[in-house]
Amino acid sequence: MSDCLFCKIIAGQIPAKKVYEDDLCYAFEDINPQAPTHVLIVPKKHVVGLKEALPEDAAILGHLQLTAARIGRERKIENSYRTVFNVGPGSGQSVFHLHLHLLGGRKLSWPPG
Ligand code: AMP
Ligand code: ZN
Repeated sequence: MSDCLFCKIIAGQIPAKKVYEDDLCYAFEDINPQAPTHVLIVPKKHVVGLKEALPEDAAILGHLQLTAARIGRERKIENSYRTVFNVGPGSGQSVFHLHLHLLGGRKLSWPPG
């Protein structure tokens, strides 16, 4: 999508600190980190958000989670991380290209705010 921040990051038109990339997804450091590890994992396909995802996007959704687990393993934060989809403005979703937050490397409180 031409006017989408994360599509532009994937295309290399806006700089980001890349963490990982494969055929289906692109992962990069959040610009405003909320934990020592705060990585965004986004599908290369422009999907607006979780509630807009289609049955055909199931493999992408699973792949984002498995990619988060891989990065968590690589960063040795497996004792304390969380994966989060914010869904809708009331949850804090501010970018309307699906993205999985990987937050970790510190004690995480529950319930989240
Ligand atoms: P959300 O609020 O769930 O939509 O998450 C959007 C996230 O994107 C926030 O955590 C922002 O800090 C992050 N973000 C916004 N612009 C950029 C950017 N140019 N590079 C990296 N992360 C960004
Ligand atoms: Zn997009």
